[in-house]
This record gives sequence, structure tokens and C-alpha cells, in this order.
Amino acid sequence: MTSGHVPAAVQEAPRARWPWQRSLQARIVLSFGAVFLVALLLLLALLGRVVYQAEITAAADTLEVDAFLVANALEDPLSGFNAEFQKFASYEEQHEASGHSDDDNHAVIVIPQSGRLQQVADLYGSDTGTRVTILTPQGGVIADSVGPPTAISNQRVQVEVQAALTGLGGHDIRSDPTSGERILHAAAPIQQGTKLLGVVQLARPLQVTLDRVRGTLLSFALAGLAAMVVAGLLAVLLSRRLLRPIRGLENASLAIARGDLDRRVPVESADEIGELAGAFNSMAQQVQTTMEQQRQFVANASHELRTPVTNIKLRSEALLGGGVTDTARAKRYLVEIDSEADRLGRLAATLLDLSRLESGAAEHETPRELVPLASLLLLVGDDLRMRAESAGLTLHVDAPADLPTVMIWTDQIEAALINLVDNAIKFTPAGGTIELAGRQAGDSCRITVSDTGAGIPPDDLPRVFDRFYRVDKAHSRQTSRTPLGSGAGLGLSIVRTLIEQNDGHIEVASIPGHGTTFTIELPVAVQAGKN
Ligand code: ATP
Ligand code: MG
Repeated sequence: MTSGHVPAAVQEAPRARWPWQRSLQARIVLSFGAVFLVALLLLLALLGRVVYQAEITAAADTLEVDAFLVANALEDPLSGFNAEFQKFASYEEQHEASGHSDDDNHAVIVIPQSGRLQQVADLYGSDTGTRVTILTPQGGVIADSVGPPTAISNQRVQVEVQAALTGLGGHDIRSDPTSGERILHAAAPIQQGTKLLGVVQLARPLQVTLDRVRGTLLSFALAGLAAMVVAGLLAVLLSRRLLRPIRGLENASLAIARGDLDRRVPVESADEIGELAGAFNSMAQQVQTTMEQQRQFVANASHELRTPVTNIKLRSEALLGGGVTDTARAKRYLVEIDSEADRLGRLAATLLDLSRLESGAAEHETPRELVPLASLLLLVGDDLRMRAESAGLTLHVDAPADLPTVMIWTDQIEAALINLVDNAIKFTPAGGTIELAGRQAGDSCRITVSDTGAGIPPDDLPRVFDRFYRVDKAHSRQTSRTPLGSGAGLGLSIVRTLIEQNDGHIEVASIPGHGTTFTIELPVAVQAGKN
């Protein structure tokens, strides 16, 4: 049978622009790598900030502590220096008051304690690679571990010196104006009790700290890259494992396409791929069953078609061969040929009906209608009463006027009921009774077609709805009078398809020797205003 659906053209896979687009595994690994790299860079940026700040704070704190230590060491020498400086200052004043004003005298005067201060500055400076500068509370330079004190301008304006002048420690980072190098400065007050003697200022290049930050970050980056390589290898292995069932599905699909309908895939996991494999297997099973049904159908159909063709051929050959001289016999042959041709025509029409039904063509041609069930039953009864009576049977219709309405394709339900009543007529001996009845049962309408005929043996009962299935083949062929079927055993399979297309359901019950009852359930139509 043709399904009536035009098969969709096989869609070609879109072209890959890049080589890696051809491999799902490469795409998984690359995406994974990209995500990892972005995460690593973000982490490094964040970490860089944190490490930089921590290192700078630690370096500044250390330098400040150092400044206090040096300040402590300078307390005594500086108080000595101040005392001598004081003496020198008062000498200067006296000298100026007496009218002597000779600039050369300044250079001659040397304050011994300043040498001591310079020593402390040099000692600490050479030990730590730090520049030590000792300042007076006014910002003047007394000693400097790098150059002559006079080379440095007033330092009072600098942030850390201002903090030290208030008696606290302070620090600041500035660039060297000549080399551009970043320098960390810290200062601490030199105090004797509460008296501020001066300020010690330490300056240390930041390069060491920056190098350490860089080193830390580099080792983090290297560790990250190593982790990335390991993760990449893991991704390759995992994705290979993940994709193996997909390859299996691909191979199985190709095998089925080549005709190996028995092919199935193992369901190895409970995840989506496992579900896919399960769905694939049930699809393959469905395809195999459908193909088998179709093969069976074609075999049965050609067998059914061959019988009348053989009957026609035998008789026409006898007539053409001139062996039939008896006119009455020749006429009988012609009548039989005519009836066999009718049978062929009916069979062809039935097959066409089935094909149309299965393609769902009828569903798309006309809409369903709201039909009062009682009138439908009465109509079918009126149609078939004559035929029942001519077979010596009584046809009784029980259709209460208050039966509900159903939403159906009228032609289809009518055809199904005619088929059932027709079977009842065929399989009930003269003198019997056929009843067509309707009842409401909850949300459904129940229609029963019952007869007092031969009944169906329990072994055959489950198969009567199968295509081409007949309980007593010889009998049903000879007495066939159906409009849709042709005694081929197709009637009930068509009936079931018709009922199911109208959202209904059909069952059969039979007691051999007493009769058969077919029961149809159809949903009651939900009408506006009613529930
Ligand atoms: P067709 O309907 O194609 O002309 P058919 O009537 O033999 O042929 P179905 O209508 O499919 O085929 O019925 C299948 C078989 O079920 C019948 O051949 C018959 O043996 C049995 N059957 C159906 N209806 C009854 C019935 N009311 N009483 C007894 N047997 C029945
Ligand atoms: Mg029938």
C-alpha cells in the first residue's frame, strides 16, 4: 500500500567552512578549551590585582617599620647634632651682630655629629639597597646615603614626610623623575620623648616587588596552562566516549537504510544519548513491523486478486477454445465471468478505500459534523432492513430520541455500521434477529450491533480485525454481498480504522452458536453552552 505521503527529499548536510566543523569531537574540545582559557584569563586578572596589592602593602609596611627602626637608631646622634647645631647657630648670630659678615666662614665650620649621622645612613643604605635620607623638622637634608645632602631640595612637601612630621609613619609610591623607575618611599619621625628631632626617609625601588608579583602570576599561568592541557586530554577522551554511541547510531541507520532491518543499537546509558538509542530502536522496530505488515498485505492482496483472475481465465479459455458447445453452459460461464469481474472491481475499490483511509486523506477533505446519534442509527436501519428481510432476518433498531450528539465524519461512521450489520446478515442463519442499539454511558455513546448468528470461536476472536482474516474462508467468499468489502476479510479492519479515526474504540464479544456483539464507543460531542 502506498502511504500517500510524498517522501521528503533527503536533506544534504550544510557545508563545513572550517575543518574542525566536520568533527563534533573537535568542536566539543575547542569549545571546552575556549571556555577554560577565558576562565583562566579572568582568574589571572583578578589574582594579579590581589597579589599586586598584597605585595605592595607588605613592601610598604616593611619599609615603614624599617624607617622606624632607623629613626630609633638615629635618636641619639641626632640630638647630639642638634645641640652642636644650636651652638653653631648662636655663634653665627653673635658673629653677624658684631658686624662680621664673611660668607667663607660658613664652609670652615664643620659639625662633627653630622658625620656620625652620615655613617648610620650609609650603613643602613648599603646593607639594604635603600636610600636613607635624614631631614630636619624643617625639611632640610642633614645626611643622605646616596649623594651630598645639598643636592636634594626641600622634602617637606612629600606625603610620607608630612605624615612623619605629625609624628606618624607614612609611605608613597612615586616615579623617579630622571629614570622613570617606580620608587617606594617611607618616612618615620625621629623623636626624643615628644620632641621631634627630625625625619628619616627611606626610598627603595619597587622593581623587586613587581618582579615578585610577575613571578607569582607566571607560575599561576603555567599551572593553569598545565591544567588546561590535562583538561584538554580528558575532554578528548570523554568526548570520544560520549560520541561512540552516536557513531553506532550512524552505522545502524546506514545498515537499516541498506535493508538490514534487524539492526539495533545497544542502550548503554540512562542519559539523553541512551534515550536517543532507545528511541532509535523503537523506531527501527516500528519500521520493521510496518514493512512486514506491508509485505503481508501485498502478498494477501495479490493472492485475493489472483483467485478471480484465475476463475475468469479458466472460463474464457474454455469458451475461446471452442470446447464448450452447450449454449446453457457457455452462458453460465459468461455469468460467472461477469460476477468474478464484479468481485475484482469491488476488491480493487476496497483496497483503494483502505489506502485513502490510511493516508488520512478523508480527514483533510471535509470537516467533522455534529450528528444526533439516534437519527444516524435509524438511517442505517432503514437502509439495511430490506436486505435483512430478504435473508429471512429481523432487523431491530433501538435508538432512544434523547441519545446525545456526536462529532464525526458521518460517512465514515455510517460505512462502519453498514459493514457490521452486513456481517451480521451474512453470518446469521434465516430466522435470526439483528439489533442495532444506542445508549449513553458517561462521556461516551455506546453503539452495539448484535446478532443471533453462528458466533466466532474464541481462538479467532482476537484476529477478526486483522486484514484478510476470515474464520471460514469458503463460506464468507460465497455469500459476500458487502458494499465495501468483497468477502476478502477486509471489512472489519476497515471498520476499526474508521472508528479510531473518529476517536472511537471497537470491541467484539461472541458465544459460538448463540451470536456476536460488536460494541463501539464514541465520545459525546462537547457543545457550546453545555458541559
Ligand atoms: P469483507 O468484509 O471483506 O467482505 P468478511 O466479511 O469475511 O469480508 P470481515 O468483515 O473483516 O471480513 O470479517 C472477518 C471475519 O470475521 C469474517 O470472515 C467472519 O468469519 C467473522 N465475522 C465477522 N462478523 C461476524 C459475525 N457477525 N458473526 C460471525 N462471524 C463474523
Ligand atoms: Mg465483512
